[in-house]
Amino acid sequence: MSETRLERLMRSLQEQGISDKKVLAAMAHTPRDLFVPELFLDRSWEDSAIPINCGQTISQPYIVGLMTQALKIEGRHRVLEIGTGSGYQTAILSRLARYVYTIERYRSLMLEAEIRHKRLMLENIIYRFGDGWDGWPEQAPFDRILVTAALPDEPLGLLAQLKPKGVMVGPQGKGSTQRLLRYVKTPDGGYTSEDLGEVRFVPLIAGVAKEG
Ligand code: SAH
Repeated sequence: MSETRLERLMRSLQEQGISDKKVLAAMAHTPRDLFVPELFLDRSWEDSAIPINCGQTISQPYIVGLMTQALKIEGRHRVLEIGTGSGYQTAILSRLARYVYTIERYRSLMLEAEIRHKRLMLENIIYRFGDGWDGWPEQAPFDRILVTAALPDEPLGLLAQLKPKGVMVGPQGKGSTQRLLRYVKTPDGGYTSEDLGEVRFVPLIAGVAKEG
């Protein structure tokens, strides 16, 4: 029997080093075609980023796998995601964590993502339309934080919203490509950082977006 497009994508992720079985299962159970604009439906199962509404992008599956694996999410964790976008990454986090708190600065993207999650019966996601620049202080501290838009520099305000031993992953840099960084909070309130490689993300932009 010939390989399906999903099987081919999952094999490609494993060949690139995504080995965490729970992450692979969460991705295999999340239909990416639900999150991709109609125009690009035939590219849903390719390992590439795809344009979505509002000039944003749905991340490349490999990068979603890499970031999710680096977070080492456990079933009891509360996770903060900044940049809901299509909601694809959110859906994967929701299958691994207890609760996902997600923030998006485009109201229309947030509402579309919410509809998709309802269709998939994902019910542990809490949404906020707003500016994620300063995290979500009312819900802090978090076990994990994922930023899916490029941070200009060290995110000290967000790191303050992590629990001790908490992990935060996100792209950092001011250019068209950035470094994907993994921060771990130490018990004394400091943190270590590790460089996971070069990535290309849309920038984190302060304030909510005006639409229509
Ligand atoms: N993980 C998403 C990727 C979305 S791209 C997916 O898989 O589809 C990054 C998203 O971050 C965009 O939707 C953008 O609008 C949002 N964003 C950028 N700056 C933001 C901010 N300050 N607060 C909240 N969301 C922001």
